[in-house]
Amino acid sequence: MILLNGKSTSEALKNELKEKVDQRRAAGKKIPHLAAVLVGNDGASLTYVGSKVRSCEKIGFQSTLIHLEETISEMELLQQIDQLNQDESLDGYIVQLPLPKHINEEKILLAIDPNKDVDGFHPSNFGRMALEMDAFIPATPFGIIEMLERYQIETSGKHCVVVGRSHIVGRPISILMSQKGTAGNATVTLAHSRTKDLKALTLQADIIVMALGIPEFLKADMVKEGVVVIDVGITRVTDTSHPKGYVIRGDVDFDGVAAKASAITPVPGGVGPMTIAMLLKNTLLACERRD
Ligand code: NDP
Repeated sequence: MILLNGKSTSEALKNELKEKVDQRRAAGKKIPHLAAVLVGNDGASLTYVGSKVRSCEKIGFQSTLIHLEETISEMELLQQIDQLNQDESLDGYIVQLPLPKHINEEKILLAIDPNKDVDGFHPSNFGRMALEMDAFIPATPFGIIEMLERYQIETSGKHCVVVGRSHIVGRPISILMSQKGTAGNATVTLAHSRTKDLKALTLQADIIVMALGIPEFLKADMVKEGVVVIDVGITRVTDTSHPKGYVIRGDVDFDGVAAKASAITPVPGGVGPMTIAMLLKNTLLACERRD
């Protein structure tokens, strides 16, 4: 069984990105600049944004954190977005989700300049991705593709079952894996909460991508021998024996499923670290496009 190690793969990728930044600096070219907009003080969002900013600094990118009050109005946030769109020093930016309830997320995402939308959430980027045109691909599915490529997992002609149809993970990965090209050419089934007899589908799958957010949902009796399993799920599960009071669990019952799998991602240390690395890759791409 191969452990698809997102930690070491993302480190290798970040080192490659750092080299490219060093080469740009030596050639007198612009250094990639990523900004992150954070509204309010949600604990998980603070952690995610903090780690994105730190990763930028580690590989030599310029980074800016724009931390706004929870009470900011939708109009004020739209004005901030407009400023970021106009800011010539900036290659890309992200707006950390979720936003406070009084702000319409869709309105904000639509206001982001698609050329700076390194999260790939703007409909223009999503549409371009679906049409196999040059686009910013959302970081999590982009990270899954990168990992499948680096571990040379054969996807062509395989049956891939994706569980979960969110706009940021399930749906885009189902599109990408069914497209032509490396880590593509799979026959994809996209399952969700209305899917009947999910187990019958997962038992047929050569590759399973779990992205539903229910800890340890996929059990050993739901998979066939030799399956490749990508676990996107991240859920905090209360555990009083742990110093933090919780542990992180994926959507896969790891020990049981790993015993039958030919390759599997762990949680933590699988898809999660790849996501940040791909955001950085998108930012470098944005910078290169502006050269
Ligand atoms: P969403 O909550 O947006 O979507 C969950 C999906 O799972 C929905 O499509 C839902 O179906 C489906 N679903 C729910 N219950 C079932 C069920 N019993 N059987 C089959 N399908 C079901 O989730 P996200 O895609 O945003 O996130 C999924 C998980 O991935 C979460 O744990 C999240 O924390 C994690 N995540 C991890 C990232 C990383 O970097 N590793 C990045 C992003 C997310 P329906 O559409 O019918 O409601």
